[in-house]
Amino acid sequence: MAKRVITYPDKRLKQHSKDVEKFDENLHTLLDDMYATMLESGGIGLAAIQIGTPLNVLILELCDEDGNKISELMEVINPKIIKKEGETKHKEGCLSVPDFYEEVVRFEKVSVAYKDRHGNDVSVDADGLMSIAFQHEIDHLNGKLFFERLSILKRKKFEKEYMAPAKIGKK
Ligand SMILES: [Zn+2]
Repeated sequence: MAKRVITYPDKRLKQHSKDVEKFDENLHTLLDDMYATMLESGGIGLAAIQIGTPLNVLILELCDEDGNKISELMEVINPKIIKKEGETKHKEGCLSVPDFYEEVVRFEKVSVAYKDRHGNDVSVDADGLMSIAFQHEIDHLNGKLFFERLSILKRKKFEKEYMAPAKIGKK
């Protein structure tokens, strides 16, 4: 069932999520709800905390700029970045920060170790959009939003525009 996506400045987005210990029906329901929510919202990734559940769970299903699917659905539990290299810049947005897009500097490639919905070990070497999406969603699990990675100047501009009273009133 699709849930409401929590948006900034909701304080829950600052929470540090905890590891999943039981790979049971509750986890599977959470994953299914997250997928329904992501489909409805038109995102390419979602972290559990974005629907208010502080667990280390994220999903990814990547699309290119024309909306064509370029990856299968990935269900990622308790992820750890085990290798990172290079540097890249990409214009990012976030379902929890509506209508704001800005270039963020991140690692070009990351290797991530995680569990699937049944608790099996998985690891993946990610580059391109997949690498960026992993880093963006793992930031959510650590209570961090993408605009916190911007320069002070760009961040001030964001705070001013996003937090303007007229705009908040519309949310
Ligand atoms: Zn996000």
